[in-house]
Parts: sequence; C-alpha cells; structure tokens
Amino acid sequence: MYLLQLHINNASQNNDSEIVLGDFITDAIPKWHLLTLNKKNHELLQLIALIFCGPKYLDYLPCALDDYFKCPDQSLIIKFVYAVHQHREKLSNISSTILRNGFQISPDFKGSYTHKKNLTGFYDQLEKRNLFYSTGNIPYFFLAYGNHLEHHTGTDNFDFIDPNFRITRFYSLFDKNAKLTDPTEYLKRLHYRAILKNRYPAKQALEQLTTYISTLLNIDTSCWMNKECNFDRQWSRFPDYQKQLLHPVIDASRHIIDASPFVADAFNIPGILLFHSPYTLCPPNMFSSWMKLWDALFPNMQMIVTLSPQAMTKVPDSIVSKRLKLPSVSISKKKSKAPIILPKKSILLIDVDSRLPNLALMKLSNYYKSKGWSVVKVRPELKTKHAEKIFASVIFNKSLNKINRLNNYYGDRLTTGGSGVSITKRLPKTIENLQPDYSLYPELEDRAIGFLTRGCPKKCEFCIVPVKEGKTHQVSDLDDLLQNRSKVILLDDNILSYPNADQLFEEMVQKNISVNFTQSLDLMLITKERAKMLRRIKCHNTKFTRNNYYFSLNNTDHLNLLRRNYGYFQFKPGENVEFIYMYGYNTTFQEDIDRLKFIKSLPAAYVFTQEYKSCLNGPQPKLSNFFDHDADRLIDELISINFSQNMKSMENYYRWISQKYVHQFKKIHHPLVDTIFRYNYRDKKGQYIQKCLEMF
Ligand code: SF4
Repeated sequence: MYLLQLHINNASQNNDSEIVLGDFITDAIPKWHLLTLNKKNHELLQLIALIFCGPKYLDYLPCALDDYFKCPDQSLIIKFVYAVHQHREKLSNISSTILRNGFQISPDFKGSYTHKKNLTGFYDQLEKRNLFYSTGNIPYFFLAYGNHLEHHTGTDNFDFIDPNFRITRFYSLFDKNAKLTDPTEYLKRLHYRAILKNRYPAKQALEQLTTYISTLLNIDTSCWMNKECNFDRQWSRFPDYQKQLLHPVIDASRHIIDASPFVADAFNIPGILLFHSPYTLCPPNMFSSWMKLWDALFPNMQMIVTLSPQAMTKVPDSIVSKRLKLPSVSISKKKSKAPIILPKKSILLIDVDSRLPNLALMKLSNYYKSKGWSVVKVRPELKTKHAEKIFASVIFNKSLNKINRLNNYYGDRLTTGGSGVSITKRLPKTIENLQPDYSLYPELEDRAIGFLTRGCPKKCEFCIVPVKEGKTHQVSDLDDLLQNRSKVILLDDNILSYPNADQLFEEMVQKNISVNFTQSLDLMLITKERAKMLRRIKCHNTKFTRNNYYFSLNNTDHLNLLRRNYGYFQFKPGENVEFIYMYGYNTTFQEDIDRLKFIKSLPAAYVFTQEYKSCLNGPQPKLSNFFDHDADRLIDELISINFSQNMKSMENYYRWISQKYVHQFKKIHHPLVDTIFRYNYRDKKGQYIQKCLEMF
C-alpha cells in the first residue's frame, strides 16, 4: 500500500490542506517524501497514522485526540487516495489498484470511514474501499517513528499476545515513552532461525542486515552470521550512538518480518514508513549513510520523513530521486452479479454442503438430462427465478438455515433431500439405479465415486447408518461403479462388515485399481488375511496423490485388539495411516488422551480430528464429566503428543479443549494457547486470548 493524496478538513495545523505524495496518473511515485520539520508536518504524520490506526483501534492510541481538532464541535475529516497491492491486501473484485476513502473522527472522538456520499467530488472516478485489517499483521503495512526512541530490555514479547500489536508499530510517533523492539533479544531470535534452524527467509534478512549495516554504517557485524555469535556481548560493545542508529532499523526489520510470514524476501514488501525528525537521532556525519541504509534495506517502502532544512541537505540525491512503481491490477474481473439466465425446461441442482461430489445430485442430473431437461449446478447463494424445478442436497443439519433461505426463495419448486433434512427420504428407485452424471463435477477427472455396499450391522448410537441403510448389503458391482475408470472413491459405510467383502477386495486386486476408502476401514473387523489383501490394494487419499489408509477411533474400547489388528498390516514409518478421531461426543478428556497416545504408538499413524455434530434427531453430546480434577496435567500431556503430519487438524482439537477449559474453570490455559498458535496464525493469538477473556 502507498499513500498518494490527502485532503484534510478541520485539523488543528492542517486545516483545509491538500497534500500530494504521488500522482496516480503516472505509473510511479517518489519513494522519499521529505517534509520540512515543523509543527504542521509533525501533525500531518500523526494524522496519517490515525488513518492507518483505523476506527476500531483509535481508543488505544497513546494520544489526546482533541489536540488534532481545529473546531472541537466539528468532525476531523481526512480524505485520501491510496494504492493497494492486491496480493498483500487480499483484495478481490477491484478494477483498479488506486482507491479512495475518507477517515473521520467525530467531536466525541469516534472514528469511522466516511460514507461514500460524503466523498462526492473527491476523485469520484475512483472506487471507495474501506481498509480491512483482520489482525492487521499482513495487509496495509505501516510503521512510524518519533524522534525520541526507547526500547525494551528483557520485557519485549514476540508472541503477538497484545491484540493491538499492529498499532504499537507506530506508538513512538505519539508517545516518547513507547518502547521499540528489544534489539539483542530480537537479533538472537533471528539468528536462531537463520543460522541454527537454517530458515531461508530469516537467513536472507540477517544477511541483508549484516551486510548493509557493516558496509553503510561501518559497524562491525562480522560475526552475526556465525553459529557462536553472542549478541549480548556484541551489542554491549557498540557505542551509544551506534545503538541509537540501530534501534529503529532493527525494530523495522522485526515488524516487516512479522508481517511477512510466508514471504522469502520480507524486506522487499511494500508499505509506508513515517519518521519524524530522524536527524536528531544520528551524528550529522553519519546521516547520509543512515538514510542510504533505510533506502537499501527496504527498497519498496514509501518513506515520509520530516527534516530540518540542514538535515535535508544531507539526504543523498541518489535516494531522493528513487521512485516506486505503482501496483497494477492483477486479479479477477468483478464477479458478475447478473442473474443466471437459464434455458426453458431447466433444473437447478444445489449442493449445499457436501465435502465430496454429491452422488444423489449426479444421478438426478443424469435422469433429467435423459428426459431432455437442461441441468445447472449452482452454489446455494446463487438464486434465479427461472428454474422450473430445484433440488437441494443437504448432508449436515447445521445447514438448515441455508435450506430455510432456499425454501423462502423457491417455495414449492424446491425439493430437498439428504441426511441433513431426512434420514428416510430416498431417491426413487429408477433414479437411484442410474449411473451418476460425472460432468456435474469435472474436478473428479478420472475418479469414479460411489457405493459397492451400504449399511452396517453395528449400532453406534451417534450414527444414522444402521437406521438409514440397515444391515450391510451390496448395491453395485465394481465394473458398474468404475465405468472403465481405474480410481474409485468408495463411500461405503462399513465395507468390511459385508459378508462377501473379501471377494470385492480380491476383485480390486485383480483389476489393479486404486481405491480411496473415504469412510475408513473398521479395524475391529480386520484379520491377518484381510490385512494382507488390503495391502495388495492400492489404497489412496481422495486426490490419489499418495498412498493412504484410513481408520476411525471414536472411543477407547478394545484398544488391545485394535493394536493387534493394526499390526497385521505391518505399516512402516513413513507410510500414511490416518485415524479419524471424533471428539466432543461422549468421551472424557482422559479417554481422549488415551486414544491419542494409542494412535501415536502405532507406526505411520496420525490423526484427523473431527468434532461431533449431531445429525438430524441424533443424540446430543454427553460431556458433563469431560474434565476431571486433573485437567491441567492432561493438557500438559496433550501438548506433548506430536504427530509427524497433519498437526493443523490437532489445532482444532486444542482450540476446542482450550475453550471448554475457559468455560469450566474461568481461566485461560496459556501453554495450550501457545500450542494452538505455535505454527500457524501466530498473529491471531492476542485476539484469541481477548475472546477467551470475554467468555468469563
Ligand atoms: S461402525 Fe461406523 S457405520 Fe457402523 S454404526 Fe458405527 S459409526 Fe456407523
């Protein structure tokens, strides 16, 4: 993001000001904006920071907002034009990267984005877009510094536990006591990732810091890339003026890397950096080199700086002439909102919530096409008045809201089906017996999908299969299902419970096909011979990109038997054996841990966690005795169980446990929260903690 123009009304020093930082008619803007050091421009920097603070965070900014008002009984309004980098800002559906907006603060100090109608006359040809930050870590990267800088010493937190961490990046512009990054602690962390863990992005960053600081500031960084570098000792040897020069550089480097978790070359990201009177922080003879350092380290950062006339003369011409290329539109045309035009005699098929291609819809499609109808599959949110019949399939009863909306819109023309609305309703036999229309899901490519058998003789109380399908019975043969394909996603509920399952397996081996047993194999029904047979079948994941076996473990019954049966497969470490691990139904926390430890003890096994959601008229979870008095010890145990893959799925379970813990014990289990955010979404941790606190 770059800032191009500002129109300011009712600011104390900048009333009715128009500031042009870049001309959006051209394709590039100046990288450096040198503003004369005075009260007015100091205020200008702070007003810019208010925009990027955003309405929600305004209360947390360490400043007295009334200082910025010329007339206290009128709103302060800042209209602005800015350029967005779509990939970073995660913007879609824009036709230009140059946008406009307005930010206003009312006399009672409430911030908001200006309504479109109040922007009339301010570059009407540009689209108005608000700034959406989420946690604010990645989009709209913005940093600002004042001219009096303090830093943390042993008190810094690198774990995003402050939900307002984004705006702390510019506190020093408002508060001379605000603290920047702890330099040695940060360098140690960067060094650890770069040198000891050999992580490429960190290595790049440390290398660039080391090189530019040494070549441009003549500061000795020669051992920074060494394994044994002791940053406490190194830092203590620097004279104070060198430390002062390095503090903001290191702080900027920390925040830029934080804001670029998936970027190899973080220092190249675009953004805005404000600096109020940096000259006062630097020995005059080093100012020019210091500016070159900022310029070289952060080549795509727009720099807006206030400087005294004397300091201006020290800024090298080579950087003043630098320009930043304005981003161009690289994505999506706007999604058409035009109504779907359907031919006469049209059927609309709506797949409300299937995770896999929906077999019932595929069969309906085949049926109606054979009768001369046009068939169109649409997402549930796309509606059209013109279809004559509409069929919607719902698997989960959590989707009932969507069904109600569809019902309201389509009325009598809508027919619903699937276990989310009824467990007894079936396709008419004539349609059920048809082949599925594969053209409905072209993403299936060369994979077949369907059932060889349906039903299950067991009676797991949470499961609808025994009621819906009865005992296991064959519904298709392999040739019919494959339709000359060599890969099949089998939806069978419990194929191993079918008395002639072994014959079906033998046929799969003979045909040399690849099979995805997507509903998992019942480990209780495995024998030595069956395991041998299943090892001869090419068992794959649903995408058929790797070998994968699937089992389920929903409780702690018969673990010894299951271990014995698992052993028949003779899996080796490095293979992929997924255990679907349902939680949140009737197991206790102790039983959950026992299950996880059991899976962990099996070679090649890992978990896929799945929260229990009751199906239509299904039993409610029975969790009143979930935690016993030993919850903390069990959480410690949980945290120590790691699988070699799919830990992201475990994060869902950690979250569920952590929220149950908050509900029951009215406190946060911080090590568990640390574990949730150990690898992913680190920047969301502070917000998560805040949400938990609100649950007390
Ligand atoms: S074994 Fe599986 S399919 Fe059979 S009743 Fe239990 S959960 Fe349902």
